[in-house]
This record gives sequence, C-alpha cells and structure tokens, in this order.
Amino acid sequence: MKISRQELINGLLECKKGDHKLAVINRYDVGYGAEHVARWCKVCGSVVVDIDVDNRIRHRPGGAMKMSSPTITRAINGKSVAIEKLFKEN
Ligand SMILES: [Zn+2]
Repeated sequence: MKISRQELINGLLECKKGDHKLAVINRYDVGYGAEHVARWCKVCGSVVVDIDVDNRIRHRPGGAMKMSSPTITRAINGKSVAIEKLFKEN
C-alpha cells in the first residue's frame, strides 16, 4: 500500500492524539473466554498487547500493557517538533 506524504502526516497527527489504526497481528487464548491480543498500528508502527474478553478489549488500548513505539515515533511524540516540519526539508 502506497500512501502520500500528506496522508502519512495526517495519520501521524491522528496517532499523536491516540487514534491509532490498529490491526490484529496475533491472538493467544488464555482461557475463560479471554485472549491476549497483539495489535499493530499501520501508520506509526506502534505495538500494543491487550486482554480481550468475548472479542472486546477489556480496557482501552494500552490499558493492560503499555503501548510500545519505534524510536522514530517516540521522537515525534516526545518533542514539540511539528510532524510537518520533519517532511519539509525533503
Ligand atoms: Zn499509530
């Protein structure tokens, strides 16, 4: 899937607000109708593991185990640098 620079910036801004585009990458049955579910954000590459009960996330995403992000995503979120600025020089 090829996306434009503007689509990427818009996506990253949504991620920054906590609205990740999460896709399920693995499910692990832990019994009693509960599963550990690994999800990956297609936009920023963050990974989160949650406990799902009856196919629903029991907590908000990241509630059971903190979301983990790649270095570039942490850098974007950790500093006051505007995401758009990263792409301006290129
Ligand atoms: Zn994201």
